[in-house]
Amino acid sequence: MGTFHAYHAALAGKKVVVLEKDLQPMESSVRNFGQVVPSGFAPGRWHQYGRYSTALYQSLQAKYDIGIRNLGSVYLANTEDEAQLLEELKQQFDTASYLSIPLSQAQVLEKWPAVKSSYVRSALYFPQEVSSESRKMIHALHRSLQETMKIEFHYLSAVHEINDLGEKVRIKTSRGKTFEAATCIVCNGRDFKYLYPELFEQANIEMVKLNMMVTKPLPEISLPGNILTGLTIRRYESFKALPSYGKLDPSPVNPLTVTHGIHILFKQRTDGSIVIGDSHHYADVAQSDQLGFDYDVEVGKIILEEAKQILALPSWDLAQQWNGFYAQMKGDEEIFEAQPSTNIYIATAIGGKGMTASAGYTKERIEKLYQVVLDDAHLQPQ
Ligand SMILES: Cc1cc2nc3c(=O)[nH]c(=O)nc-3n(C[C@H](O)[C@H](O)[C@H](O)COP(=O)(O)OP(=O)(O)OC[C@H]3O[C@@H](n4cnc5c(N)ncnc54)[C@H](O)[C@@H]3O)c2cc1C
Repeated sequence: MGTFHAYHAALAGKKVVVLEKDLQPMESSVRNFGQVVPSGFAPGRWHQYGRYSTALYQSLQAKYDIGIRNLGSVYLANTEDEAQLLEELKQQFDTASYLSIPLSQAQVLEKWPAVKSSYVRSALYFPQEVSSESRKMIHALHRSLQETMKIEFHYLSAVHEINDLGEKVRIKTSRGKTFEAATCIVCNGRDFKYLYPELFEQANIEMVKLNMMVTKPLPEISLPGNILTGLTIRRYESFKALPSYGKLDPSPVNPLTVTHGIHILFKQRTDGSIVIGDSHHYADVAQSDQLGFDYDVEVGKIILEEAKQILALPSWDLAQQWNGFYAQMKGDEEIFEAQPSTNIYIATAIGGKGMTASAGYTKERIEKLYQVVLDDAHLQPQ
């Protein structure tokens, strides 16, 4: 969120400095799946942000390797009613001129031979969608923006004080450095203890903890793109308004997946390893420390049991397990925005959609803030 605000502010002709508390970003923008899936949103504002983000990622990738690959996304239906929802999703996106291709079981098994025939009934494929190498993307993007747009990045620069002096904003870091700017945009992710703690505690925000894992490299397996499964069809926003969503039969679903907010996604990294997740546990901001710091081994086992019903892999040996955290709004709100004083703007709690939607969201926000229209000349024709 911070990086894409910076990118669009620089496009609007502003001199931009980004302050990051860590040696390099290591929070949710690095710990995620890297699935850029506008298909996860019904046609509308957030879907459009996702489409713009996809185009921007590809344009940036064309100039500098930031770890973006256009390998598409596929939703695998396990049950008849999930397959029905995929048909309805296709109709919804046909109307919005967003390409999707229905696939039979045989077509899925041909393109993704690791998928089990006992699991997949049919699928819907979005060939235009992209994936990001999460451990590389934001760092490479910083290097690229530093070189090509002269955006300054200062690491180990935890901001602990922001004062709006009217004609300018004074920003202080915990290492005693002071920066002055006309405008300060706070995109603090899930860190609510340093800046405006009461504001965040009183807002309608909650913290989410996710369990993630990755196998050892499996170069003999080809699992291209973003792989989303039946539990995802039951979870993602784009399905919820479809006519048959309310008719989904819950009986095939393992109740433990509901208890732990588990749905199964896969993303193969460039080294052949397969990222597997995830689960969702929630706490209010003020109590978020109670989510703990432990990787939950039992939840990890449930994720793996579900994953093994979907894929046949030669080995399920894991290389890493980790926790990701993000902040999200409770209820129907999609993001937290505030303007604590004239020249200070906050935007955070974008939830589980930040890698898909941030680029588009921040473009619009910068346009509003500076009353400009950023044309699409910076986007390469696709
Ligand atoms: C496990 C997991 C899987 C996910 N998978 C996907 C996916 O496949 N697709 C998708 O679209 N989204 C996904 N998401 C969601 C996505 O990663 C987030 O929405 C997005 O990364 C949020 O970006 P952000 O910039 O708001 O937060 P962050 O990435 O947390 O960035 C905030 C930054 O601000 C810095 N910071 C905080 N406070 C200060 C301070 N006081 N001073 C200086 N720096 C500070 C932090 O160090 C951090 O680097 C996933 C998230 C997780 C955790």
